[in-house]
Amino acid sequence: MLSESEIQLLRSRLLHWFSVNKRDLPWRRTKDPYAIWISEVMLQQTRVAAVIRYYERFLSRFPEIRALAEAPEADLLAHWAGLGYYYRARNMQKAAQQVNQAGGFPASYEAIRELPGIGDYTAAAVASIAFGLPHAVVDGNVYRVLSRVLCDRTNIAAGHARMHFTALADRLLDRGSPGSFNQAVMELGATVCLPKKPLCLLCPLAGVCKARHAGGQEALPVKIKPRRTVEATRILLWIESDGKLLLWQRPPSARLMPGFWELPEPEHIPSAQIGARVGHFGHGITIHKYRFEVHLASVPSMPEFCRWISLDDFPQLPISTVLKKAGKLVNIVKSQGAGPGQASPVPDSSAPKNPLDLRKGKSAC
Ligand code: SF4
Repeated sequence: MLSESEIQLLRSRLLHWFSVNKRDLPWRRTKDPYAIWISEVMLQQTRVAAVIRYYERFLSRFPEIRALAEAPEADLLAHWAGLGYYYRARNMQKAAQQVNQAGGFPASYEAIRELPGIGDYTAAAVASIAFGLPHAVVDGNVYRVLSRVLCDRTNIAAGHARMHFTALADRLLDRGSPGSFNQAVMELGATVCLPKKPLCLLCPLAGVCKARHAGGQEALPVKIKPRRTVEATRILLWIESDGKLLLWQRPPSARLMPGFWELPEPEHIPSAQIGARVGHFGHGITIHKYRFEVHLASVPSMPEFCRWISLDDFPQLPISTVLKKAGKLVNIVKSQGAGPGQASPVPDSSAPKNPLDLRKGKSAC
């Protein structure tokens, strides 16, 4: 974080820069919360230059909140056409009807935030610009400017990023001019602190910007998307007879774990009689997060690609982690004398040693 004197310097430089350099936009000529709200909703997915004509046309047709509240839907959508995301227009009308019924636009952040379709960003923008309330806006521009000025490497794709940057933005916010300060940060992000090539030579914050001093501004903000995961449930068949277990072996050409032994699944043996559930455990393979359910089963005859493997041979065989986990689950159920279906997921270290202990087998995953 910056020192108190650096924060003061940042505020005064940014506000001065904004007062001199801000673009002349129609929604900056008003303090009407209705008009500011309309502009903020339109700007959510559309460039400033494109929004101007939509904004002016919309406000000339619906100049105040009552006109919007009472507009026929077809008329409303006709004036929204071209902006896309029509649910935004419908939400705006619902909010307008609530505000109209309440007799006026709410004048607190919390009440604005309660209106249909209004999120944290829009509520903070309207509250600060129209009512001068000290609520910082946080969006992609703000992430970028703050992460660079503070040389903050927080991953903006992480779940806690919004809370983190909101706290920083609130700390930096100029409480005497929150509306102008919010707009100034946004304006800086839109016109100077650009995503790919920030124009640091033109920046009013160059003197206090830690990333610029360190020379790493273009690498910020850090954005590492969490890996996509796919969740699924799979059934494993535990088919045991005379101290032997029915398994299949991955072929040498298999992409994953060639030569490793696995428990069959129902699609491998359509003729299998599936019995009671022994229990379940979780296991991740690349992006897949599986819940494996182990069932006792029997087969009328041995499927040709399977083999009966003596449980005594397991320590010498390459077996997958999935098979090891299934073996531990069965061990625990047997050692507890618990009935099938009463077992819980088993931690790796908790399995007792007995003839079914599969821990000594090799595993690649
Ligand atoms: S000095 Fe450069 S990196 Fe830092 S805020 Fe200004 S434009 Fe962004």
